[in-house]
Amino acid sequence: MTALINPEAIVEITPSAGVRTALHGWRAKCLQRLIRMDLPVPTSFAISADAVRAIAMGGTPDRARLAAIIERADGLVSVRPSAQNPAWGGPGTVLNVGINAACHARLAETRGKPAADALYLGFVQSYAIHVARLDPDMFSDSDAGLDAALRAYEDETDEEFPQDPARQLAEVLRSMARAWDGPTARLLRQAKGAPDSAPLGLVVQDMALAIGPGVTGSGTIQFVDGVTGTPRITGRFRGQSQGTARGEGAETLYLTRDPRGPSLEEAAPQVFADLVRFGIAARERLREEMQIEFVISDSRVAIIDAVRVQRSSRASVRIAVALARDGVIPPQEAVMRVEPRALSDLLHHQVDPRAPRDVIARGINASPGAATGRIVFNAAAAQDAEARGERCVLVRRETVPEDIRGMHASVAVLTERGGMTSHAAVIARGMGLPCIVGASEITIDSRARTLQARGRTFLEGEEITIDGTSGEVLAGAAEMLEPALDDSFAQLLEWADRECRITVRANADTPEDARTARMFNAQGIGLCRTEHMFFDEERLPAMREMIFATQPEDRRLSLERLLPMQRSDFTKLFEIMAGLPVTIRLFDPPLHEFLPHDREGMRELAESLDLPLSDVTRRVDALSEFNPMLGMRGVRLGITVPEIYDMQARAIFEATIDASHNGDPVVPEIMIPLVSARREVELVKTRIDAVAAAVRNRTRKDFTYRLGVMVETPRAALRAGDIAEHAAFMSFGTNDLTQMTYGLSRDDAGRFMGTYVSQGVYSEDPFHILDREGVGELVAIGADRARAHKPGITISVCGEHGGNPESIAFCLRAGVDYVSCSPFRVPVARLAAAQESI
Ligand code: PEP
Ligand code: MG
Repeated sequence: MTALINPEAIVEITPSAGVRTALHGWRAKCLQRLIRMDLPVPTSFAISADAVRAIAMGGTPDRARLAAIIERADGLVSVRPSAQNPAWGGPGTVLNVGINAACHARLAETRGKPAADALYLGFVQSYAIHVARLDPDMFSDSDAGLDAALRAYEDETDEEFPQDPARQLAEVLRSMARAWDGPTARLLRQAKGAPDSAPLGLVVQDMALAIGPGVTGSGTIQFVDGVTGTPRITGRFRGQSQGTARGEGAETLYLTRDPRGPSLEEAAPQVFADLVRFGIAARERLREEMQIEFVISDSRVAIIDAVRVQRSSRASVRIAVALARDGVIPPQEAVMRVEPRALSDLLHHQVDPRAPRDVIARGINASPGAATGRIVFNAAAAQDAEARGERCVLVRRETVPEDIRGMHASVAVLTERGGMTSHAAVIARGMGLPCIVGASEITIDSRARTLQARGRTFLEGEEITIDGTSGEVLAGAAEMLEPALDDSFAQLLEWADRECRITVRANADTPEDARTARMFNAQGIGLCRTEHMFFDEERLPAMREMIFATQPEDRRLSLERLLPMQRSDFTKLFEIMAGLPVTIRLFDPPLHEFLPHDREGMRELAESLDLPLSDVTRRVDALSEFNPMLGMRGVRLGITVPEIYDMQARAIFEATIDASHNGDPVVPEIMIPLVSARREVELVKTRIDAVAAAVRNRTRKDFTYRLGVMVETPRAALRAGDIAEHAAFMSFGTNDLTQMTYGLSRDDAGRFMGTYVSQGVYSEDPFHILDREGVGELVAIGADRARAHKPGITISVCGEHGGNPESIAFCLRAGVDYVSCSPFRVPVARLAAAQESI
């Protein structure tokens, strides 16, 4: 015996009914709000998620109750899904439940036979496909007519089409409840962030018929453009149309007056005016831009549903800001309404329209922005590429949920198949990755690792550009335009900054980075990785000469060549940052990173240094390490080869004096990497103080500086109290700290990270989202111990996690003073930090 569902589990939605989003879903709650506003909403009932779950497991609702609901509705109802969050979707709506031969006859009398046929046929088709699960191909042809559909149903099921309205409704409820539990629905909603056990409520509503005499039809209207976010009435109205059912004379009208054809505004001005009035009221009362679904029956409007307007990232910012500017919501709430990650969409590069475009294929422009990267054909290759620091474009026939890590590792995605709502498109938009789907012109051979397009063949590793804004795939690297930032973006971030309890700095190594950082209002540079300044053509030879110097004096001479270059780097940074703090990290990587690794390179180097090849190979061998990440790098190098830090300190101080000429005095922050013991800091500090004294003496100019320590080793975190003694600030380098806490190579972990995460060993890639339990505990311990020893010490995080919203939330709770992240992540970090502060 199947259990009977409690009749109370079906509630009529009235202004005072106990309808709750958590229990009845978002749609039911929204309908109640519309009803409270006195909008003309047809009688509606909410079925609780508990009841829906029981129905899915075989429980049956009380037939008499269902029969009464349909009878009250004049014979016809619709059933709609009502998930807790509208983004989670749900099974498709079923209309005209309750229609049978008798009802059909009645409708034929009141609305004409064609209208009655169309409504009955629409229901038979959806019942056959979704409830009886018959072959959709047999029922998708509307031209075949009602009788043919009824006959096909009877032939396939060996029974008459169900005539009992209560049975029809019970079956529709059951099929929708079960569909929600099916694997496809689960995967789809999980991709949108729904928990596995997400509840589904259902809404049963009296039908407002959209086929019949007079101005009759159905449509949607919204008052803002979902792509740009600017105010504009858009939507559609289909006369004599209800779902897939079409009556005689069905036609589509424009909503507002339009030179291209007839409009609803002209056909039914009063109805149109009512809709506009309802829209304005809904925006104010629901405090949101809504898309209203309506039915017009002989010039009478029924509001059957309203959903939050679907919006692009750009529109989400504009809408939130406009609502706050109009006083509908407070600015604080506008700040809370925008997903921090959405901001990165606004920041995307675009292909320069003036530049030549070598188009190799076109597809659907599924996610905006443009990016160039090397072709990879699977997620593992994408992760390998990322681990090597290469930008790659993931090219797939279509993507599946397992590809998500590969998508995270890519700068853009291209698929041969799929549409705007395919997995690749939905996920890429969510991640803000430029994406083109349905590029049917391309042919992928994943074995041979080739991509063919318009007669050309591209191999794995070749560069292409994805223009997700236009939908064009371009060969090679296209010229890009910097992203444009509008006034709403600036306003939102200004409001965000008012709320922020911490500051956000940028990791910037070059003047361009620093300019971008300022453009995004970073409140300083939290990490300048100075080694990046030594890799260019002009500096590398001097660097190598220094590495090959056998005597300190020779080394000093090569460093003298590097000094002016470093000084001008720092002067520029100080000038661009105009008085904001700039943290310069002393040289960090192992020296062999600057030497050639192949014989040819070594031969060339021997030639340029005028040394025997054997000397070069010997030096390269001597510097190579079994485990370079744990070898002679960071402060270890600074202590062993102190002339490098001496030169950098001198360059910083001289730049400080140069840049202090015109403005406020610059106070540079010098940061020592990879510290693990207090004595390391003492030794470096002594030398830097000596350099500072020498510069002061020589120039007769005074300046101050702050010395700080990077906490990148577990020991530094544990001994933070001790180490803090000589440090004005401590910055957690959570990249290395994660690597060392897990004993997990930053450069190689990509190979197995996918497996580890999919098997639940790690809940997330700890290099992407800070591991609160392990690495996070070290951060918390380090911060506490440092502060206990030196209460005024500045604490920050400058690893990649500094730009990740979830990690920022943790940092805030751990009491850091600022986070520092790559310049393009600064707006995201500012918004995330503000949201966490509110
Ligand atoms: C870190 O280790 O977190 C850090 C910021 O330094 P890098 O990434 O340069 O090693
Ligand atoms: Mg580091």
